[in-house]
Amino acid sequence: MTPSSPTRVGADMTLSSSGAGAGIEPPPPPLAGLEVHGLTAAYGRLQVLKGIDVSVAPGELVAVIGSNGAGKTTLLRAVSGLLRPTGGTVMLGGSDVTSLGAEQIARRGLSHVPENRLVFPSLTVDDNLELGGWTRRRDGQHARRRAEALELFPRLGDRINLPAGALSGGEQQMLAMARALMAEPSVVVLDEPSLGLAPKVIGEIIAALGALRDTKGLAVLLVEQNIRAAFSVADRVLVMERGSVVVTGTPDELADDERVRSAYLGAGTTSSGAVSRRSAPGPA
Ligand code: ATP
Repeated sequence: MTPSSPTRVGADMTLSSSGAGAGIEPPPPPLAGLEVHGLTAAYGRLQVLKGIDVSVAPGELVAVIGSNGAGKTTLLRAVSGLLRPTGGTVMLGGSDVTSLGAEQIARRGLSHVPENRLVFPSLTVDDNLELGGWTRRRDGQHARRRAEALELFPRLGDRINLPAGALSGGEQQMLAMARALMAEPSVVVLDEPSLGLAPKVIGEIIAALGALRDTKGLAVLLVEQNIRAAFSVADRVLVMERGSVVVTGTPDELADDERVRSAYLGAGTTSSGAVSRRSAPGPA
């Protein structure tokens, strides 16, 4: 998909409805994309990322696939400030955020949905959402963001007062994504959102990611082991091996690529070994 002038949902509301003193609100800032150049990162003496280049424009979804230990999670951690890169640059909306910490990067519009969901189990769904919007708590837009998140994941609305720990795995993944959206990001990075979920739920998660790209114009960087799910939604795919990107292309271009198949030893492929872009998401 070619990114084209995405609009932020709700961004057309230029007249404030906040009662007395209502006036013209300033236009929202343009949506930011993500640009990563020559990124290197290490755990102690273990060099994990060896010069990664990846860019994700507003309204684009880029999937990163690769075998276990290739460095996919490390890439997301280095991009979102959870791990300080040893070299290269991370640009968010044209600003260099390479040396910033995770909280500062989040404030500048990047939300990270980590592996294993990590919701607060003893807090209600609603309280989890409220915490997700913490960095924007003073802008008076909480109710709008909450409504948009619940529109994307209606199941959460039905469970709004339940403790998050009572939700199914799929619902917890939806909550983790909804919570990330409460920070009103321009860029969302997600680590294996399909992990351990049933095919039907994976389909819902993938559809929601497509909607974030298409209706909100977000830049989405998706790490995903479920190759069928990744190929069904991605505009471009990067294949990582041992800390480097070995091939990039559209799902159609990579459908028959040997490097995609070898990264997964056939997982998620058809009987002929080819990956179908249009096949329904399912477990890898
Ligand atoms: P998977 O698909 O299994 O999640 P991955 O591609 O996400 O793998 P990473 O989790 O980024 O890979 O790990 C890359 C390498 O870094 C691996 O060799 C891993 O053992 C190592 N590694 C990851 N986290 C740490 C850590 N906190 N300390 C030391 N080494 C780590």
